[in-house]
Amino acid sequence: MAISGECFCGAITYSVSGKLHDARSCHCSRCRKAFSSQASAYALVNSNEFEWLTGEDLLTSYVSKHGYGLQFCSSCGSTLCGVFEGAVHGVTLGCVNGDPEIEIGRHIFVGSKAKWEVIPDGVTTYNEGPP
Ligand SMILES: [Zn+2]
Ligand SMILES: [Zn+2]
Repeated sequence: MAISGECFCGAITYSVSGKLHDARSCHCSRCRKAFSSQASAYALVNSNEFEWLTGEDLLTSYVSKHGYGLQFCSSCGSTLCGVFEGAVHGVTLGCVNGDPEIEIGRHIFVGSKAKWEVIPDGVTTYNEGPP
């Protein structure tokens, strides 16, 4: 069954026909801002397996100088996906519906996490990027 996702207001929906890959959570200060959270929660998709179903016209984008960007719902503000050079690169796990049959495998840049965040025991952490 395809994986589906949607924003908070439900206007934008998407489908992923394949599997999600390499789910990770980055705790760096940039990801905290980008995800308005303690960390990112993000998994890669094959861009040819990703399809917007509804509301694509409501998407707005922020692209950084390196070509990576994020796309948001202009109505409710949910961050739905990451893009690289215009193609969908991955999805934010918070907007995925149900069980995408993947768990966050690694927590990266934990060395620069927010002082207020408590990392649970037993998760795989790296102080900086993955080795
Ligand atoms: Zn929305
Ligand atoms: Zn980061």
